[in-house]
Amino acid sequence: MPLIKNDIIDLEITSLSNDGNGVGRSGGMAVFVPFTAVGDVLKVRVVKVCKSYAFGIISEIIKGGAGRIVPDCPIFGKCGGCCFRHISYEAELAAKRGFVEDAMRRIGGIDAEIGEIIPSPAAERYRNKVQYPVIEGENGQLQAGFFAGRSHRVIPCADCLLQPENLNNIANDACEILTKLGVKAYDEASHKGLLRHIYLRDAVTSGEVLLCLVINGKTLPNADKFCEEILRLHSEIKTIVLNINTERTNVITGKKCVTLYGKGSIDDVMSGVPVELNPLSFYQVNTRGANVLYAEAARLASLNGDEVLLDLYCGAGTIGLSMAANCKKLIGVEIIPEAIESARRNASKMGVTHSDFICSDAGTAAKQLAESGLSPDVIILDPPRKGCDEQTITAVVQMHPARIVMVTCNPTTAARDLAALQSNGYTIDAITPVDMFPRTKHVETVVLMSRAKD
Ligand code: SAH
Repeated sequence: MPLIKNDIIDLEITSLSNDGNGVGRSGGMAVFVPFTAVGDVLKVRVVKVCKSYAFGIISEIIKGGAGRIVPDCPIFGKCGGCCFRHISYEAELAAKRGFVEDAMRRIGGIDAEIGEIIPSPAAERYRNKVQYPVIEGENGQLQAGFFAGRSHRVIPCADCLLQPENLNNIANDACEILTKLGVKAYDEASHKGLLRHIYLRDAVTSGEVLLCLVINGKTLPNADKFCEEILRLHSEIKTIVLNINTERTNVITGKKCVTLYGKGSIDDVMSGVPVELNPLSFYQVNTRGANVLYAEAARLASLNGDEVLLDLYCGAGTIGLSMAANCKKLIGVEIIPEAIESARRNASKMGVTHSDFICSDAGTAAKQLAESGLSPDVIILDPPRKGCDEQTITAVVQMHPARIVMVTCNPTTAARDLAALQSNGYTIDAITPVDMFPRTKHVETVVLMSRAKD
């Protein structure tokens, strides 16, 4: 029987799809149901029917699957953040390893073995960055929260379990103080009100916190009073910055920052690389998780100290610089000028003199490097979600490195790129999924490829 919207159907969840939904079959269709676990036996209300698949929501849990647990957050399912607080972390890890395996087989036609998934060192409170949208509750009381899934409705949240407790406390205290000072929350519909987001960054190694208020205006009234009061409560705050965003836009931060207190940035160390963080710098959001990810990348790269390393899509240079002591020459390529400046500063702080950072599109730079005859021993590829473009893959092959280490946040595009490298003479030696984002659908993967003997 074909499915019809609003039908209540019996459904058993047999797998999880890579967007975090449970999947079962009914009426000849795959039915996707959020917040479900493998083995769940459910009554499901059909909410949308497409050509070959449908979406449903749980109407009743008849029998919970083996990995099911009671969610520990009062706004789980309402806020757009977590999608896995209803299953154990072990079940989540198994599902994520499955996402990687599925993408490799189905999209890349890759049959290499998928290694054990490396868990995040912490499954809770692991984030070092949080951007809370702010709304006004009763009596004009400002409240920090998160956007509901696929919406711009703010769900207040006093203690998000993905954030360190002190960041949640700072946000709550900042709301108290700013309410007292008469600050109004920004309202998207009318483009009125001042405070858009409270944005915090935590330098895990030093314990320093950066507090940034994203405002729809040029100044914060009573800024001195605000700084004085929040610093009295939280001495870990080492800098306070205003970010000016007066545009009608979904983008959280504007281009301009004004420092109210401190030097406008905080200092952290990731995998031995000193990093300076301001509100606009790109940084891995799980510091200890990134240490694990980079360690796995280094293990697979197995540099012998006498090799040339090319780090494509290098950001602030952290991956390459964390391996700099083990290579003869390091070249990094990244498209964002500020990130390249950071990479150069980080290198000089480390006393790394055998590195070169190029600000360019990865494909363009790789093509030029290949044409100049560069032949790195190892190439690291850490592209954005859309993966590498053809020009990059072609140039990488032309440089014929002995090994390629891909670090990827998207198994789907990685599978495509790995398949392309495979058909150009590279074999896949290891695939290691790494969980950097517990409780969300995201999973990182590190892949080692080596050039087949000529
Ligand atoms: N390797 C870094 C950053 C990885 S994120 C780290 O681990 O921190 C991917 C990076 O690719 C981002 O810094 C992004 O700015 C950069 N990027 C995106 N498109 C690019 C392109 N076409 N050429 C070069 N770099 C690009």
